[in-house]
Amino acid sequence: MNAPATTRKGYLFIVSGPSGVGKTVLCNAIVSKFAPDVVYSISTTSRAPRGGETNGQEYFFCTAEEFEKDIGRNEFAEWAFVHGNYYGTPRRFVTDNLDAGKHVILNIDVQGAMKIREAYPESIMIFILPPTFDALESRIRKRNMDSEHSLRHRLENARKELDYREHYKYTVINDNLDAAINELTDIFTGYVQRRQVEQPALAK
Ligand code: 5GP
Repeated sequence: MNAPATTRKGYLFIVSGPSGVGKTVLCNAIVSKFAPDVVYSISTTSRAPRGGETNGQEYFFCTAEEFEKDIGRNEFAEWAFVHGNYYGTPRRFVTDNLDAGKHVILNIDVQGAMKIREAYPESIMIFILPPTFDALESRIRKRNMDSEHSLRHRLENARKELDYREHYKYTVINDNLDAAINELTDIFTGYVQRRQVEQPALAK
């Protein structure tokens, strides 16, 4: 008799880096390259949608009160208060996909990343760096969709976030977008292929 088929869990990738460094563009590029093996976890946030953002696409938008209720119900794998708003990773999406053998990307801040690392010590931690702090500052100012107060907050946070890079296994500098995508692609390819080799064929 054949041994029962086993499904290996997927890998959990954590992508962090200061605001404005280009994490979302990079994550989207990876998801489209590796679909359907790699899926993106859409976070829930209490921040207001920016122009062009749609509920369920960039984020699940909710009020701070709704977010707090979800914290109480233990709905988040991690959550953090970032730039004055709540952000959290819905737990169910992550566990269901990992259990199904998919690889999941979380685009989360450094506080959330440290919490996830405790719960999932095998996660693959990737930090995106700007070429220089000045370059980052001008990117944040250019895309200034927030109030001046929030902008200052983001710049201060960016400096603090950079200090966390040593906790990450990989660092990728986003100077040239294509080069950064290639570097990330190499990292993901290594893990996705490794999993394909490790994963026994599933019985139909
Ligand atoms: P933004 O408001 O610019 O979309 O995101 C602000 C910051 O929140 C970014 O650094 C982003 O990575 C982080 N973030 C987004 N979703 C989550 C989440 O679910 N958890 C945590 N901890 N941070 C998040």
